[in-house]
Amino acid sequence: MARRRPIMAANWKMNKLVGEAREYVEQLLPRIEGAGGADIAVFVPFTALGEVARLTEGTPVVAGAQNFYYEDSGAFTGEVSAPMLLDVGAAAVIVGHSERREIFGETDEMVARKAARVVSAGLLPVVCVGETKEERDSGGMWEKVSRQVRAVFEYLGDETSGEPIVFAYEPVWAIGTGDTATPEDAQDATSKIRGLLGELRGEDFAGAVRILYGGSVKPGNVGEIMAQEDVDGGLVGGASLEAESFAELVNAAANVESG
Ligand code: PEP
Repeated sequence: MARRRPIMAANWKMNKLVGEAREYVEQLLPRIEGAGGADIAVFVPFTALGEVARLTEGTPVVAGAQNFYYEDSGAFTGEVSAPMLLDVGAAAVIVGHSERREIFGETDEMVARKAARVVSAGLLPVVCVGETKEERDSGGMWEKVSRQVRAVFEYLGDETSGEPIVFAYEPVWAIGTGDTATPEDAQDATSKIRGLLGELRGEDFAGAVRILYGGSVKPGNVGEIMAQEDVDGGLVGGASLEAESFAELVNAAANVESG
């Protein structure tokens, strides 16, 4: 099967003031000039989004948000909508990150509603799924992940093709811990997700969807993870905070050989 176009995505989480964001983009752009083989997204705090979108306009980097709310306007104090993200130049959104699910109580249903709204707004969703350590240790990895993936399709129109959706398999125990899943674990989970997408929406859809791995990806392990057949890129927290290290990951993704 032809390999899908890789994506390397930075998740800054709740880090960087606007000035720091500006400096990062200035350092990143010259370091990724040879990375035409990959899509690049930087998911930044709302406060830096407009500035990062402006600075990356016309470059290979797209600016994205880490969250949003699926209603377009109204009495939802503290929330930001899809039209507001488009208004400041965002092109992508992370949906259902485990920190949103665990700390802020996002349910599968909320994640599904968000994914559907992101797609209908013409933004690219990166939908995160993944199991906890307890779930993995008790043999419940696939039960959890398959439930999360199935839920996403509850509100998504049948007409949606595979290209506008990205999944990120992010085992919760590997996020921010330095504990990376083995390349075989990453391949096992991403290939199972692709198999399920095939059951739900057919082979063409499943073959087009890009599935990322996230969880302590860094320059030292990105090569073996990216070499896996069903891993189409990375969603990276800690190692994306320095422009130099994120540029290394981007360049590794752009030069990946088919697994
Ligand atoms: C993440 O924030 O999605 C993530 C994978 O973080 P880290 O790379 O730090 O594990």
